[in-house]
Amino acid sequence: MNIILLGPPGAGKGTQAQRLVDTRGMVQLSTGDMLRAAVKAGTPVGLKAKAVMEAGELVSDAIVSALIGEHLDASQDRGAIFDGFPRTKHQAAALEMLLGEKGRTLDHVIELEVDEEALVERITGRFSCANCGVGYHDRFKLPKVEKTCDVCGAHEFKRRPDDNEQTVRTRMAEYRAKTAPILPYYEERGLVRRVDGMASVEEVARQIDAILDGLPARAVRL
Ligand code: AMP
Repeated sequence: MNIILLGPPGAGKGTQAQRLVDTRGMVQLSTGDMLRAAVKAGTPVGLKAKAVMEAGELVSDAIVSALIGEHLDASQDRGAIFDGFPRTKHQAAALEMLLGEKGRTLDHVIELEVDEEALVERITGRFSCANCGVGYHDRFKLPKVEKTCDVCGAHEFKRRPDDNEQTVRTRMAEYRAKTAPILPYYEERGLVRRVDGMASVEEVARQIDAILDGLPARAVRL
């Protein structure tokens, strides 16, 4: 099964993708994570992408489509969760071609519906453990012991450089202008399922599970 998680920054795509990796053994393909790794490693792609990401704008279609192409095979047997890709019509076409070449298809495009103002608070408050990567939030999920990771006990934390309010607003605008318009493309193919991204993490997970397990529409907001 191959699925796309679609929604503005902070909608919960990464959280839900990670859960599907843990519970179903699917493979998360996050272009944001791939780009951050490239920036950290100082590769040519990373050098090109760094300033664009810090401004909250979109990296070129050619770069991200190539990244997905390089990582796609790893999900051949276990199924892919596309997280943060595609973000433009060009990328949607590139994905269709890449999957088609491998004889694979797309099963669901799951849109996380959210309220943008609440997202700014969600995003600007988030931070993670610098050692194990587990996520926290200034208001919603502080470590149980101050400045100590609940999972691994480390004392160092980090914030994404693009999680500040100004950049978040640009990222939202990019989503509205370039990513939301790909929804009709998938609607025409009957692939779009909607879930309430403002619900709790557990409830969103339940709604996504219902979609993947093909439970009756009543369990899912369509
Ligand atoms: P994310 O972690 O998905 O929020 O992505 C962080 C940043 O990486 C975005 O604001 C973009 O600058 C860049 N990025 C990630 N995925 C894509 C994509 N599919 N197309 C263009 N830029 C992307």
